Amino acid sequence: MSTQATFDIQRIRADFPLLARTVHGKPLVYFDNANTSQKPQAVIEAVDRHYREHNANVSRAVHLLGEEATASYEGARDALARFIHAPSRNEVVLTSGTTQAANLVAYSFALPRLRAGDAILTTTMEHHANIVPWQLVAARAGATVKAAPIDERGELIVEKFVELLTPEVKLACVTHVSNVLGTVNPIRELARACRERGIPLFVDGSQAMPHRPVDVRALGCDFYALTGHKMLAPTGTGALWAKKEHLDAMPPFFGGGEMIREVRFSGTTFAEPPHRFEAGTPNIAGFAGVGAAIAYVEALGFDALRAHEHALLDHATAQLREIPGLRIFGEAGDKEPVISFLVEGAQATDLATLLDLEGVAVRSGHHCAHPLMQFYGVPATLRASLAFYNTHEEVDAFVAALLKVRRLLR
Ligand code: PLP
Repeated sequence: MSTQATFDIQRIRADFPLLARTVHGKPLVYFDNANTSQKPQAVIEAVDRHYREHNANVSRAVHLLGEEATASYEGARDALARFIHAPSRNEVVLTSGTTQAANLVAYSFALPRLRAGDAILTTTMEHHANIVPWQLVAARAGATVKAAPIDERGELIVEKFVELLTPEVKLACVTHVSNVLGTVNPIRELARACRERGIPLFVDGSQAMPHRPVDVRALGCDFYALTGHKMLAPTGTGALWAKKEHLDAMPPFFGGGEMIREVRFSGTTFAEPPHRFEAGTPNIAGFAGVGAAIAYVEALGFDALRAHEHALLDHATAQLREIPGLRIFGEAGDKEPVISFLVEGAQATDLATLLDLEGVAVRSGHHCAHPLMQFYGVPATLRASLAFYNTHEEVDAFVAALLKVRRLLR
């Protein structure tokens, strides 16, 4: 069956109001999806409905509105647990995103286990969210953070990663999908190697969730962090999935309301996970949108979504390869629809600024991945990151605009 038959792209685009707007008088081509995705009407309406009809705080009220808000918030946990095949909803901690999830693991799991001379292993292709939290806790403990190398194609050198899993490594931290290169890391293989050595594995799933089904049991990792706003949900939403045994052993990170059992000046006892890690009022309206975002993706189905995205990736890559002087960063065998590139003789930021005037939104910069930029010896790249609601015509418009603005810069 062709993608066209199963995937009505115009109907899908009609679900995303923002895609219909113009910028600088041109139709918008939104290719900054790795930064944040656009939101379908169903998500916007879920947030709107929350404030219009259900707004109250969670878990604190016996009145109906409080019950409704709590049901919606806890419903998002159920939806996320189902979506990532978590063995239990109680293993899903709701967070503001991947950054908060990583910091929670850093301070609550890693720090108490780190001793002077220990190490945390990560890789050269990580987002700063999967580097800096580990550095902060390593510094406190007198431990270090080391990075497994990648090759020129932007693939992790798995043998080196495994070699670096030495006894002083107390935690390994790897991205599922690179936000710059699109590279998909072989998490099952890495998790097996970590398991054999008794080293827990934290996976940054921020860029994987919008593009591929995730089954945390099948992956075999210990922790999986995800970002709601990159998969159609509102900003300020995300989650940490962790094995029950880890969550049970983790002390609280943030203290405050919601996370306690009993507070006395002689000592406080804490709630069971996941609530132990959810101090304060959460992003209740945002999580109403998470439920709607997951329902949207589930209705669409990952098979159709992936077929379309990969057709777009192939179409864009083939055209960019034809452009003399254009260098693509990230040519992994298994990659998601993210294309980083540079054009000889033009600054990334200049190109991105001129592309914006043509209606094309791409990101330029270091993409929160300084070590990766250093590896390639460049300060920045341009990044076109695609989503299932993009079209072949938008790819053509982007390539035409790129050729036009490159001429202007010569
Ligand atoms: N990890 C990766 C690979 C990312 O691309 C991002 C965001 O760009 C993050 C982590 C940070 O995620 P969040 O915005 O949920 O904190």
